[in-house]
Amino acid sequence: MHFPVREGLLLRSRRHNRAVDGVSLHIQPGETLGLVGESGCGKSTLGRCISRLYQPTGGSVQFAGDDITHLRGKALMPYRQHIQMIFQDPMESLNARHTVGEILEEPFIIHKMGDKAFRSERVRKLLDTVGLPARSATRYPFEFSGGQRQRIGIARAIALNPQLIVCDEPVSALDVSIQSQILNLLNDLQQEFKLSYLFIAHDLAVVKHISDRVAIMYLGKIVETADAEGIYRQPRHPYTRSLISAIPVPDPHRKVQRQILSGDVPSPIDPPSGCHFHPRCPEAEAQCKTTSPELIAVSGGHDCACLLARGDA
Ligand code: SF4
Ligand code: MG
Repeated sequence: MHFPVREGLLLRSRRHNRAVDGVSLHIQPGETLGLVGESGCGKSTLGRCISRLYQPTGGSVQFAGDDITHLRGKALMPYRQHIQMIFQDPMESLNARHTVGEILEEPFIIHKMGDKAFRSERVRKLLDTVGLPARSATRYPFEFSGGQRQRIGIARAIALNPQLIVCDEPVSALDVSIQSQILNLLNDLQQEFKLSYLFIAHDLAVVKHISDRVAIMYLGKIVETADAEGIYRQPRHPYTRSLISAIPVPDPHRKVQRQILSGDVPSPIDPPSGCHFHPRCPEAEAQCKTTSPELIAVSGGHDCACLLARGDA
């Protein structure tokens, strides 16, 4: 099958990998796509397939019109430069035995860019861009707070001027006040460098302000996708509605009906029959046990995979 893509990134996966199943995502240049679901829904797997840290077992990953699904080694190098990742725990990507200066210099050495003077200057500039003092270069990751370490992780991710950054729960481990600082930094960098983000989170509140579009994932499948406003204003999937009802509401007079989800996400190895969400769905009907819902358009740019969701028209 051929998917014409001029720019941006497209991932399609079909039935070969149960962790991520039949998912199709498209991220436009300069856009933030929020990818939301509980732990174990396959979000990180999907993010790592897109950044090609994992080799997808099926489907394809296309970047700016090029199929990068099966590239390896040298052929993958230019795309490694264009697609970067930020992790929940920055220590995962920061070598604890290297100084911050060495960590930030490394991408330039790997990609054979510039001499020592060039690299030192770039390191100084990167630290400044993410709001850290120049003297940070001679210190080690453990000497920094969690929020500062995330700034170092971000500096490393933007070092080679990427086009897309896969942000895998970058603020989930941080205090709320630090979370908003990091989200603001990511927003500023997006404006300045025209970055695209795939922003992975288990919490809809976190992606609310940063996303242009949101995709909701449940057990390896996308169950709803719409522009950010549409998802919050008119959620169509029962799973999305329960995620939204879990967001704390600052106004105590505004009543929101809580839909508490019972149980955990089932194992993707042996998913429930029919609609995978049926054992936990407050609206499930008999047909949900046997029929698997397709992702269909319910209104312009708003898709939902629920047997009870119908188009507006
Ligand atoms: Fe719930 Fe049925 Fe819709 Fe699945 S198809 S989300 S079980 S109502
Ligand atoms: Mg994860």
